[in-house]
Parts: sequence; C-alpha cells; structure tokens
Amino acid sequence: MRIDPARAKQLVENLQRVTQRVDAVRGGSGRKVRLIAVSKLKPARDILALHQPQSPSTQQPHHDFGENYTDELTTKAALLPHSIRWHMIGGLQTNKCKPLAESVPNLFSVSSVDTAKKADALEKGRKALVEKSGDEVAEEQKRLRVLVQVNTSGEESKSGVEPHETTALCRHIREKCPTLRLGGLMTIGAIARSRESSSPDALNEDFVTLRETRDRVAGELGVEREELELSMGMSSDFEAAIAQGSDEVRVGTTILGERPAKKDAKIQ
Ligand SMILES: *Cc1c(COP(=O)(O)O)cnc(C)c1O
Repeated sequence: MRIDPARAKQLVENLQRVTQRVDAVRGGSGRKVRLIAVSKLKPARDILALHQPQSPSTQQPHHDFGENYTDELTTKAALLPHSIRWHMIGGLQTNKCKPLAESVPNLFSVSSVDTAKKADALEKGRKALVEKSGDEVAEEQKRLRVLVQVNTSGEESKSGVEPHETTALCRHIREKCPTLRLGGLMTIGAIARSRESSSPDALNEDFVTLRETRDRVAGELGVEREELELSMGMSSDFEAAIAQGSDEVRVGTTILGERPAKKDAKIQ
C-alpha cells in the first residue's frame, strides 16, 4: 500500500493534536479515554498511516478505528493488519450482523446495538467464529464487546432505544448472549446541541441523559457504574463529552479531514 509521506505527516499531526486535547480535559484524573479515529469513507492507506506511523519515530501506533458501513469495514479489515481494533459505530442492519461478527476476528466492538434481534445475530456470528477458529482466537476476542445505542435526543430520525427501554436490552445481552460482553452505552445526540457544546465546559443534555441512563441501568442490573462505559463525543464536542464523563470518543473529521460523498469514496 503506497502512503504519501506528506499526507501521513498531516494525519499523524492531527491525531497528536486531538490526543493532546483529550489529555488536557482528562487532566490529572488518571481516567482513561479511548479515542476512536473514525475512518468511514476514507482510504485504507490513511488508516495504515496512523496504525504504522513511519515518522516521527516517537509516534505510537494507533489501534482503534471506527467504521459506519459493514461492507466497508469488512473490506478494510481484509486489507489491513489484524492488530487494528475495529469499531462498528454506524446504524446496523439485522441481516448484516452475523456475517460481520463471523468474518472479522479483530472486530473489537459494535457500538450501535438497539434491538435484541441484532444482539442475537451478533451472538450467532461471534459464536460461529470462535467455534471455527478454536484456539487461534485470542482470549480477549472470544467475547465481542457491544454497546447499546440510546436515543437521548428523542428525535424520530435517530436510531437507538429509548432511555426507559435500555435496561431490558442490556439484560437480554447479559443473560442471553454469552459470546457478547456488554461494554456500556452509546449516543450520537442532536446535531444542534453538539454544535452548541463545542467549548469544553458546555453542558450537553444528550450527555447528561446518557450518563443518567447509565447510572440507572447499572443500579437495575446490580453492577458497578464503572462497568458500563459511556461512548459519547465526536469532532465538534469531544472535549465537553469527556468533561461530562465520556470513556470513549469517536473523532473523524478533525483527524482525517472532510469526508467525500459515499458514491465518491475510494477505499483501496
Ligand atoms: C461519523 C461519525 C462520527 C465522527 O464524526 P465527526 O464529526 O467526523 O467526528 C462519530 N460517531 C458516529 C456514530 C459517526 O457516524
């Protein structure tokens, strides 16, 4: 795969800047925040440039990459090193869940589970993968991490379960899907609120709702709050999200630049 050195340098610098901003909000809290570089509609070589940086040699490889479309994720996963941790963060189609979980061993997480049917299909796929590969599957890959997507903004156009339905789906995953691991909750939130919360101390109602839902769900399931992570925050609002308790931010444009239209995207 040919990587243009100037492009690679730019990407690494963008990532470093975002990492510094994440660290600045975390402060000395010692809390870990996972940074997912959202690479949807971007070429595979951009991902490789961040995963296997050539220079400066001090730059650490980046592992977590997020994709929105199952076909694109599957194609990229076949082209790129298995040391990448893939996050499926986009809207899921039930019929694509099983093939996705079965064909990508280094699929680390699916962040957008919003029905029991989708959870069951992911369960079937991951179970088939584990049975097929036997001892070749690393221990941490035997259970697929999933997040339940919550519709915190109440907009009809947004997917996700309603806050009050969240415990039931979480319970289903914990009790009926032994090959999945419930990692926490995810929200996208309203675009308008996201724009308004571009300063680190802006309060965003979607983030408040997700945190309150997590606290309630943890209580209802009888688990520690910390066991359920919060995935919230994107390019426009990741600092505010971290300040409000996010454990995982999904940043695309600020690291990889503007995305092309889907019909113009060149993956290879
Ligand atoms: C595209 C996308 C992102 C990243 O958005 P940017 O604004 O480019 O950072 C984050 N989360 C989800 C679910 C997305 O679809």
